[in-house]
Amino acid sequence: MNYRHLYHAGGFADVVKHAVLALILGRLAEKQAAYCVLDTHAGIGRYDLSQIAAQKTGEYLNGIARLLTAERAPDAVRPYLEAVRGLNPGGQLRWYPGSPAIAAALSRRQDRLVLVELHDDDVAELRRTLGRDRRVGIHHADGYAALKSLLPPKERRGVVLIDPPFEAGNEFETLAASLIAAHARWPGGIYVAWYPIKDPAPVRSFHAALKSSGMRKVMIVELLVRRADSAGTLNGCGLVLVNPPWQIEKALDELLPWIADRLKQGPGPRGAWHWLVPE
Ligand code: SAM
Repeated sequence: MNYRHLYHAGGFADVVKHAVLALILGRLAEKQAAYCVLDTHAGIGRYDLSQIAAQKTGEYLNGIARLLTAERAPDAVRPYLEAVRGLNPGGQLRWYPGSPAIAAALSRRQDRLVLVELHDDDVAELRRTLGRDRRVGIHHADGYAALKSLLPPKERRGVVLIDPPFEAGNEFETLAASLIAAHARWPGGIYVAWYPIKDPAPVRSFHAALKSSGMRKVMIVELLVRRADSAGTLNGCGLVLVNPPWQIEKALDELLPWIADRLKQGPGPRGAWHWLVPE
């Protein structure tokens, strides 16, 4: 496990993932009943962008930094931006919230966060950052195994984020199989699974596997920061949403083009969604 998320924290891939996660948490909070967030690949919780790793790639400069300086963000993006601003009360961007810190900022007293991380150092850091929060449970474990052991949650409502590092050659296959099996275990959950867009072929096979699985209400959200024809580089990323909240389409129509326009790195940027399998 060589992957260190600090190099990528706050980059365009984090932005779209966290903005959509924030949107979903906002919708879940419209009902009083408690919800559960299961984050299978949680990372360290929050990231110090002043550290050498983040400065070396500067990915956040082409990501969150561009959004914070933009005027008039659409309503759909605001909860996410507020979570980032909340970590940087002085106004200077230094700390970037990972998915656990986004969830902690936007969830309520009655909600529960279950965070799973396999890397020894990362789970220790995660414990230091969020371990004292009474709503939080931290597991030093394999995130895919956690989908089997921890679902369904007792709340029977909530969201599962599956955000693997894509270091392994077969990660697309593992992700598809794990998502399908998790859905069979808990068909009513909301699922958000992240994937990279480098070459189009593995993405097509991934979508085909999900389409033929029998799952319904499967939505694809994609952000391209340049046309997807520069093979081998990260041209964009996608999210598979299963059971997204009702009428999320309208919010995504606001959020995605705005983000794509701000985060473009070449010709052909695009932020869009479509139903892979409708209801
Ligand atoms: N979800 C985080 C966020 O949005 O802030 C970022 C997660 S990062 C993309 C992937 C994380 O998964 C890394 O921290 C890595 O150490 C961890 N990881 C790698 N393999 C894992 C596994 N099998 N189970 C759980 N965590 C794993």
